Amino acid sequence: MTTVRRRFAAVTAALALSVTSGAVASPAFADPRQTEKNPTATGYGGAVSTVDPEASAAAIEVLRKGGNAADAAVAAAATLGVTEPYSAGIGGGGYFVFYDAKTGKVGTIDGRETAPAAMPNDAFIDPKTKEPYPFTPDLVTSGVSVGVPGTPATWERALKRWGTLDLGEALKPAIQVANRGFVVDKTFNQQTTDNLERFKTFTSTQKLFLPGGEAPAVGSIFKNPELAATYRLLAKEGTSAFYGGQLAADIAATVKSPPKSGDTDLPVPTGFMTTEDLANYKALDQDPTHMTYRGYDVYGMAPSSSGGTTVGEALNILAPFDLHGMKPTDALHHYFEASALAFADRGAYVGDPAFVNVPTKALLDPVFGKERSCLINPTSAAAKPVQPGNVTNYDGACPTSTTPLADEKDTENISTTNLTVADKWGNVVEYTLTIEQTGGSGIVVPGRGFLLNNELTDFSTVYKADDPNRIQPGKRPRSSMSPTIILDGGKPFLALGSPGGSTIITTVLQTIVNRLDLGMSIPDALAAPRAAQRNTKTVTAEPAFIDAYGPGLTALGHTLTKSGDAFTSAAEIGAATAIEFGKDGKLTAVAEPVRRGGGSAMVVSGDQRDNGTGPKPK
Ligand code: GLU
Repeated sequence: MTTVRRRFAAVTAALALSVTSGAVASPAFADPRQTEKNPTATGYGGAVSTVDPEASAAAIEVLRKGGNAADAAVAAAATLGVTEPYSAGIGGGGYFVFYDAKTGKVGTIDGRETAPAAMPNDAFIDPKTKEPYPFTPDLVTSGVSVGVPGTPATWERALKRWGTLDLGEALKPAIQVANRGFVVDKTFNQQTTDNLERFKTFTSTQKLFLPGGEAPAVGSIFKNPELAATYRLLAKEGTSAFYGGQLAADIAATVKSPPKSGDTDLPVPTGFMTTEDLANYKALDQDPTHMTYRGYDVYGMAPSSSGGTTVGEALNILAPFDLHGMKPTDALHHYFEASALAFADRGAYVGDPAFVNVPTKALLDPVFGKERSCLINPTSAAAKPVQPGNVTNYDGACPTSTTPLADEKDTENISTTNLTVADKWGNVVEYTLTIEQTGGSGIVVPGRGFLLNNELTDFSTVYKADDPNRIQPGKRPRSSMSPTIILDGGKPFLALGSPGGSTIITTVLQTIVNRLDLGMSIPDALAAPRAAQRNTKTVTAEPAFIDAYGPGLTALGHTLTKSGDAFTSAAEIGAATAIEFGKDGKLTAVAEPVRRGGGSAMVVSGDQRDNGTGPKPK
């Protein structure tokens, strides 16, 4: 598989360059564009895993020049803003988790988007029909879904808190890639095609992403000089040039009055963002969530993401069971049941802690987890959705069984991007960033080269006063992003994360279970077929998962349905990245071998004597 892709990549690189630049004598060698992807890389002196070889190369370049993991993570993220513009970029938000080798502490930055101050709680209700806007494609393609972006502030804060470079230096590789262009692969082409109607809706988006009215061809070179100019502006003036000045005015104007082309019938509800909203944005320093599982310390993202509490609670629910000693279908049955219970509590209790009281401590309390684990019947699936637990009154004793709730539709869209970086000093970054669904709101800020997010669709669509995730002005919508760092005796053991909307939680959870309980190597744990039980009647599963475990799990009472839908066209869950830390300093960086067209893992050096500046002389 890898060899085939590599050959394909080499051919497309050569082809592409010969199209744009016939004067170059030996294009295949002269082309600096990175197209080769390896899903696993082992070595020393630092490592990176992302979905994209240009982004991984940017991180490796920074590490080789003496930058640390925070510097390299920002360089990679900015490059993803160029090469994965439908998943990430300065028009979005995310969560940055850092393990500091000097202090042995994990810290996080909450760079989630916020709702504008003037956003009413019925913003998602169509005034004409008094009903919620149809979710896809109507609500998701709108100004009203755009949250105040947090990504530029996150980069600046991460560099200030942990990095050694300034923003200008960290943006250099991305500016280069935006100027020289990258080779369009099948994934980029497909994602553009999937978004055709949404992108056609806006003049600015047509101009950037539909040259000649169509998706850029596989093998062609895609350049984004306008994004390069925007990055240069940030490099020169810092993020005050994003949260203030002409760019902030452009963003607010675009949200309030998206540049509609008139070529589609999408209604494009307008938004409420002002330049004051942008000026008031803050990326927040947060304590991570913490729990222990099988003797390891698991650190994750605290609310406003539900990632840390939900992964952590599910692990607490699984803790009493010997998954390792079970048949695979029995272990997976427990994984489903634990996930459903944790999702019930996520829905009932998790929202932005600046606005609602989130019982983070109780959700991560092993006593609470033990009590919830009583509800798992080892031989039969509970009727879903299961009820949330009682976070104010629990003692670990088994409650009487509860009746199921009415099923609810999960509207959280996919896709995001995720990256993992380690440096030679032992610092680690796990960073998930997003513009919400693939293509975000579909709206490019005219002349600025980037898409705006549609993150506010992560709020509940219909307002209920007791819903922790109800729309409130200034609030962060609940996320599922789950950047996770696991320590063993205070030292990094495993860092991992994934995109995938609410399946992020299950992907991270399943990968941890695969690795820690089911004895898989980290490349196998990540590549294994996935399934997501998010407290719904049916379990969403990849076709390969259904082939492997469908009959056994069906016999236990689970109903498995194939993942993917007409809009995303991909029957896959997540696009994870990870780094595992060996005892001898050996790093195993892992990306997807197949999902999203395969990811890109790289190490600074394959040589143990190399600390990033080249092998030491013998
Ligand atoms: N909006 C989602 C979240 O915050 C992320 C989207 C995705 O991962 O694809 O959880």
